[in-house]
Amino acid sequence: MSTDVDVAVVGAGIAGLTAAHELRKAGREVHVLEAGNRVGGRMATVRRDGFLIDSGAEQVSGRGYDATWAVLADLGIGAAELPRIGRRIGVWRDGRVRPGLVHPLGLLTGAGLSVRARLDLGDVLRGRHDFDRPEAFGTATVAEFAARYHPDVLDYLCRPVVSGFFGWDPEKSSAGPFLGLLSAIGPSSAWRTYRDGMDTMARALADRLDVSLSFRADEVIGGTRSARIYSGSTEIRARSVVLAVPAPVVRQVYVNPPAHETPFLEASTYVPMVKVHLMLDRRPAAGVYLVVLPAVASRTVSTIVFDHLKHPDRAPRGRGLVTLVAHPSVAARLLDTSDAEVADLLATAAEEFVPGLRSAVVRAVVHRFRDGLPEATPGAVALRAHFAARAGGVVEYAGDWVGVMPCSEAAVRSGRRAAARVLAVSRKEHV
Ligand SMILES: Cc1cc2nc3c(=O)[nH]c(=O)nc-3n(C[C@H](O)[C@H](O)[C@H](O)COP(=O)(O)OP(=O)(O)OC[C@H]3O[C@@H](n4cnc5c(N)ncnc54)[C@H](O)[C@@H]3O)c2cc1C
Repeated sequence: MSTDVDVAVVGAGIAGLTAAHELRKAGREVHVLEAGNRVGGRMATVRRDGFLIDSGAEQVSGRGYDATWAVLADLGIGAAELPRIGRRIGVWRDGRVRPGLVHPLGLLTGAGLSVRARLDLGDVLRGRHDFDRPEAFGTATVAEFAARYHPDVLDYLCRPVVSGFFGWDPEKSSAGPFLGLLSAIGPSSAWRTYRDGMDTMARALADRLDVSLSFRADEVIGGTRSARIYSGSTEIRARSVVLAVPAPVVRQVYVNPPAHETPFLEASTYVPMVKVHLMLDRRPAAGVYLVVLPAVASRTVSTIVFDHLKHPDRAPRGRGLVTLVAHPSVAARLLDTSDAEVADLLATAAEEFVPGLRSAVVRAVVHRFRDGLPEATPGAVALRAHFAARAGGVVEYAGDWVGVMPCSEAAVRSGRRAAARVLAVSRKEHV
């Protein structure tokens, strides 16, 4: 690869690949530099012994994922390749699964909530919140928001959902992004998964782009007309750079960010996520494809996903695939624990909710994310709009953290915005 490039995108996650795709469409020459040996970042799939293991993201929505669907249309990927999951999700309460969580049907079935809390749930689900402006809700944490309602709303809805899906502590993360995402994606009946694995979009984008794998950017130094990227002894000079890595990585590699950008970069913290995927010799019975566990039921496992119910081809015929997500209270510790210990701890804890699980395990695979999801603290939410309004520069950013949103749609939107900002800066230079 030439050491003088037009645009360098650091990171081949879904944000970086989207930015590169948009820039290439606009006629720019783009090189994507990825530290890992595959593309997709936190939206990836591992294929092993006939199992399709979604290592990070599990699903997308037919609603509210407008930028994702727009890029998919560019790639010729239609809805048939993202079938509706078509099964409900549930919450564990008093010894059994209560289906209908995050679904209007929950108002009838209860979805684990008492009658008074069900009325409150209607209020939560009816609310309209802005995905792109999470600060519009204010800086209340999830726990502060839920305190307006019956205690069940925190214990059997908000806490299990934010801990189970985002790895959040509801006392630390903001309600605005949670409510903005809920409003946008609609009920769980709208949720879909990629038929051929969650890496489908990343693979399709990478096929059309110039991507260098196993290229870790150690240092990025911004200048007035170009930026330099260092990796070992290699130096690359680029007219524009898009840093499409989580904010903690930006803080490590970007040597001289402008002073006005640093408060938001520093406020953009992440929570860790740890998952163990259990390949099974059978399919355990389950009425829902995903169960979240309230803290009173388990502080070891937060979510159980029956992947073979999410999509039948995730496991070979007759065999099962179950994913356990570590509870936020143990996730940080498990980042540095051996795979065998993580698998044993989580599978033992899950046995109570899926009897016979351990005896069905043929093999376990562990995935850890030190930067799992944006933590979306009130501090980050409060600084977002100011950061978004900054003037364009040589070094731009993409990633879910830019929108302070814990989902892939935010990453895709940020990629499109980063591309638009790079193009706007170039247009100005030519005037
Ligand atoms: C366990 C889990 C479950 C999730 N579930 C869902 C879900 O169901 N639905 C949903 O919409 N979202 C979900 N998400 C969120 C979603 O996966 C992310 O929001 C999205 O994938 C983030 O994309 P990104 O491009 O911003 O970052 P990343 O995917 O993290 O991409 C960053 C890339 O940069 C690379 N990189 C890092 N450092 C360097 C360096 N120094 N030099 C070069 N490259 C570097 C990384 O290897 C990576 O490929 C989940 C996330 C996790 C962790």
